[in-house]
Amino acid sequence: MKQYFIVSLACLALWGCAEQRSEKEAPLKMINQVDFSHVKIQDHFWSPRLSKHISTTLPVCIDQIENQTGRIKNFENAAKKEGKHSGIFFDDSDVYKALEGMAYTLINNPDLELEKKADEWIDKFAAAQEEDGYINTYYTLTGLDKRWHNMDKHEMYCAGHMTEAAVAYYQATGKRKLLDVCIRMTDHMMSIFGPGKRHWVPGHEEIELALVKLYQVTKEQKYLDFANWLLEERGHGHGTKGDEGKWDPKYYQDDKPVRDMTDIGGHAVRCMYLYCGMADVAALKQDSGYIAAMHRLWDDVVLRNMYITGGIGSSKHNEGFTEDYDLPNLEAYCETCASVGMVFWNLRMNQFTGDSKYVDVLERSMYNGALAGISLAGDRFFYVNPLESKGEHHRKAWYGCACCPSQISRFLPSIGNYVYGVSEQAIWVNLYVGSTTQIPLGKKEVTLKQETDYPWEGAVKLTVSTATPLKKEIRLRVPGWCKQYTIAVNGETMNAPVEKGYAVLNREWKEGDVIALDMDMPVEVVAADARVKQNVGKRAIQRGPLVYCIEEVDNQKGFDELVLTPNTSFKAEFKPALLEGVTAIQAETGKQTIQLIPYYAWDNREAGKMKVWIDYKE
Ligand SMILES: [Zn+2]
Repeated sequence: MKQYFIVSLACLALWGCAEQRSEKEAPLKMINQVDFSHVKIQDHFWSPRLSKHISTTLPVCIDQIENQTGRIKNFENAAKKEGKHSGIFFDDSDVYKALEGMAYTLINNPDLELEKKADEWIDKFAAAQEEDGYINTYYTLTGLDKRWHNMDKHEMYCAGHMTEAAVAYYQATGKRKLLDVCIRMTDHMMSIFGPGKRHWVPGHEEIELALVKLYQVTKEQKYLDFANWLLEERGHGHGTKGDEGKWDPKYYQDDKPVRDMTDIGGHAVRCMYLYCGMADVAALKQDSGYIAAMHRLWDDVVLRNMYITGGIGSSKHNEGFTEDYDLPNLEAYCETCASVGMVFWNLRMNQFTGDSKYVDVLERSMYNGALAGISLAGDRFFYVNPLESKGEHHRKAWYGCACCPSQISRFLPSIGNYVYGVSEQAIWVNLYVGSTTQIPLGKKEVTLKQETDYPWEGAVKLTVSTATPLKKEIRLRVPGWCKQYTIAVNGETMNAPVEKGYAVLNREWKEGDVIALDMDMPVEVVAADARVKQNVGKRAIQRGPLVYCIEEVDNQKGFDELVLTPNTSFKAEFKPALLEGVTAIQAETGKQTIQLIPYYAWDNREAGKMKVWIDYKE
């Protein structure tokens, strides 16, 4: 099998500027996600991972937060107003993110013990809140006189993560104690900052998207307005660290007003959270200026600054960006949080456009850059995800800055969010994940059962269950990697038109209708954009949504000399005993045989070298 396609980075179609719309026109956001609480995942690939999240990852996070580090102790000390703060000034956020992961887990897997643990934590948070609503253990324990002084001290970032956790926990259990803590904190912030009050530019974005969630659950317009105000504060010279150092506007996305932004810069994760906040506010305020900015930014990210793994951030120096097309492999930063951020942001872009190219990127980041962030056993984490290793880069049990473990822990139980969308005219099938999903459609409801061996195989069976006949489009995403596919409904082959990457099936659906999508999934040899100098004379291997790599443990002989050529032949074979079951690829070139494994699964065996981009000889 030999197939070639030239590149992911540069051949994606450019997207023009969004047009201006009046408020009377259709909403800018055309698709809503089908919330993961409706998506019951029963999948060969994801279900074992979700089980491990419950059995291993959550207990690991709880143990690190309670016992191995002082993160919970900080809240206990803050409540008593005695003792020291330990760790980094934004460590509270890890606790909130872990709690958010616990809340998401409870939605699909009720567990009284876990809920009791969450309640215990929430009591400690509430006890640590100041009289005036302020909550942040670092400043409570090091001096409240210094609070709201240095905009890079993550006070609103922590408040944002607390709010996301509170909304998740409220939705999971109906309990609003933490939500009330958040409301008091937000009202405190709004008593100091806002129109006619003090300026503030959050050094690490997060509060903006969280305030939108708070608005959605409380229906209080003032929280949405505050999110919008915070976005509009950027780019006007208000940013400062007070007397604690120099503010770098580019690093903090504060060098120009957000609606004027054209290129990504500074810290990668901050950019992702900013863009998500802009998208959420734009959707509710019908702000097409924000959308236009995001289209420009998306082109800059995806066409010039994204790795084949869907990771972003090429520089350790600023945890972010250098110059366009600078994508070093060994030194790649690609923070796990940034890949998860790409998933968050690209879902939102898809919801504005109904274009599958955003789900292509979402899927790339999810199955590669983000999933590599956690070990197969579920107990160790990558912060940095390079595309090459000399053998010294390994997952760790935890990090001093533990944003990535807690990020993965809240991401995994919510992956059901990315499977389906629903709009006025259609049900959008975005990801291929075995699941049973009840899709609410106004007063009606339809159930879709999805059966598949994705990402190993490209066959997908969808069974429709509906009480009364349903006239609605079902739009199946044809992934960007897929060049050949067939679609049949009840055994009859369909020639479905394709719009923006979706095959459109428009008919009246009846109980028991079966849609069969069969996608060819050959091994693809990928060349990078010629402007990426690090990948000149190299090729990467991809099959379906998965990017592959070579590890020394499989290829001990002459690892550094292994090459691909135009005559290399490839064989893909599922190996149940390898890395908990993966489709491995054998690449044969004359007498040389290379074994490739999915990138997400690397560094789960003995230590050794790894690379994604392999030397290529014409
Ligand atoms: Zn992180």
